[in-house]
Amino acid sequence: MRKPIIVGNWKMNKTIAETKAFCEAVDPEVNDSATFGIATPYLDLQTALANTKNLIVAAENCHFKDSGAYTGEVSVPMLEEIGLKYCIIGHSERRTMFGDTDETVNLKAKRLLAAGMTPILCIGETEAQFDAGETKEVIKKQLNGSLANLTPEQVAGMVLAYEPIWAIGTGKSADKEIAQNCCGYVREVVKEMVGEEAAEKVRIQYGGSVKPENIKEYMAQPDIDGALIGGASLKVDSFKAIMEAVK
Ligand code: 13P
Repeated sequence: MRKPIIVGNWKMNKTIAETKAFCEAVDPEVNDSATFGIATPYLDLQTALANTKNLIVAAENCHFKDSGAYTGEVSVPMLEEIGLKYCIIGHSERRTMFGDTDETVNLKAKRLLAAGMTPILCIGETEAQFDAGETKEVIKKQLNGSLANLTPEQVAGMVLAYEPIWAIGTGKSADKEIAQNCCGYVREVVKEMVGEEAAEKVRIQYGGSVKPENIKEYMAQPDIDGALIGGASLKVDSFKAIMEAVK
């Protein structure tokens, strides 16, 4: 059985003081119905790690090189040194605004896996691609590129997040059938690429306007093993309501 994994992606939100206050309020309430976690800005990571026993902590990005002239970037060895175990890669905001491609996401996945860390790898189509009926094609291309040359064991241990771009931050969440169909298709492509065993083990999240009111219906879908949550993960009450809803 796949253990559900629900992660709040804070994006560029919260100071160190706000991170500490959030962790103190939420961490003691974490139940073991799922793996619950937060992905925070780099500057907040050590505070989050120091103030959590139950929540997992993730970075929101990393560079694939270990060091060098890459102004503003943070490497995997730097994240490893603070004791981090998870990192989001390929979020659509990084793909559209900061130049991430399937090739660089693949390099990031490989570097994280070499460090024994778990990548949370995001994919998803734009609204224009959805309207043009190209969703499956986009999912397949992104997975083929981002997971290229990984072993079945490596893929089995990863988390894949299907986030349709048109549902991110818009309040327009994908209905549960669309989310299930797409997450089911993600599993199918993984099976094609690395086999059935890895496809059965890999955990697949849905992301895009998930909130306390709708998380249950997503979690009830057979191929949805969790959620990646932006806006609704920022407030203590709403994060607690999400944990309560999946209990
Ligand atoms: P929202 O939950 O705010 O739509 O954001 C989703 C997301 O991008 C999580 O990575």
